[in-house]
This record gives sequence, C-alpha cells and structure tokens, in this order.
Amino acid sequence: MRKEYIYIVILILSVAGMIGGIVSLLNLSRDTRDAKVTTNQVQMHNIGETENTVTTASSEEKVSPNAAFALKKYYDECSHFDYEEVELPKELVNLTEEEVQDFYTGWEIEEFSKDKLVLTKEVNGYCNQHFIIKLDDSMVNVYRVGTMGELNEYKTTDISKDYLPEEDIEKLEVGIPIYGEGKLGAALEDYE
Ligand SMILES: [Zn+2]
Repeated sequence: MRKEYIYIVILILSVAGMIGGIVSLLNLSRDTRDAKVTTNQVQMHNIGETENTVTTASSEEKVSPNAAFALKKYYDECSHFDYEEVELPKELVNLTEEEVQDFYTGWEIEEFSKDKLVLTKEVNGYCNQHFIIKLDDSMVNVYRVGTMGELNEYKTTDISKDYLPEEDIEKLEVGIPIYGEGKLGAALEDYE
C-alpha cells in the first residue's frame, strides 16, 4: 500500500514538473516576443531620428543650377591670383557646402551661397602671365615662363638685332621680363 502512494506522489510530481516546464517555456517565448517588440520600437525610433536629421540637412543652403562658379588660384612663386569664372559643373547642383568640399578635395571653399561658389587653391610656381623677351642669335623672340620657371617658346618676331641700339641688345641678350599678356605688345613695339 505504501508503494502505491509513492508511485502516485512520483506521478503527481512529474506531471507538476511537466506543467511547470511548459509554463516556463511559454513564458520564455513571450519574453522573446516582448524583447523583439522592444527592438522594433527602438529601430523605429532610430529611423525617426535619421529622418529628422535628413529634414534638417535639406534646409541647408544648396548650390542652385544657375549659380556663378569661379576658381581662384594663388601662385606662390609670384604671389599672383588667377581668377577664372567658369561654367558650373552639373554635378555640383543641389550639393551642400560640405558635399562640394568632398567633391573638390585640394580646394578650399572661399565663398559659398546658393548663387555663388568660389574655390581657391595654392599652386606651387608661377602664373601664366610671365613672359621674357629675348634675343636669340640675331632675332628677338618671346617666351612664356612655365609654372616651374622654365622658358617655353611663345612667339617669334621679325625684329632683327641689326636695327637695335647696343643698349637694347645688351638687355635683350639677358632677357626682359614682362608681366601680363597685354603689356607684351606694347613692349615689342618699342623695338620695331
Ligand atoms: Zn604671376
């Protein structure tokens, strides 16, 4: 008789254990589901934040399609600036200042608004407005000074040494530097 009681007790305990196990399993899965819901809410919250950031960025000033665009180069050998207004590259339309900067690495943004964009850069060397008038053998020629100071043939003239005074010949043999293409013509006229 006592043995039967023991069996019954064992049976009750094991049934209770099974029920307990099932209940805890159910709880566990509910916890996981809750946790998932929480994660989704967090993610949605994050997405909301990202959208907010994008909205803020869109109110920043952006390059308009008809903005003026200029490149300004500073040449460190002669301290001259070369200011060139060029057509706005299509890729820059609708970009923010930061995005333009990413596009033009090596350039500094000197002026930025939706209507005007000026980029500047320091260049090692001379600008392209330096010329040398020089006597080669018997003829006067003009050279353009390259970025690194080298002389590149620019144009020949029909001014001959034969008709030049000794004083001019001496100077021309050394070479006469001229700054600015506009002044070149006037300087050559002096020898004609
Ligand atoms: Zn220069």
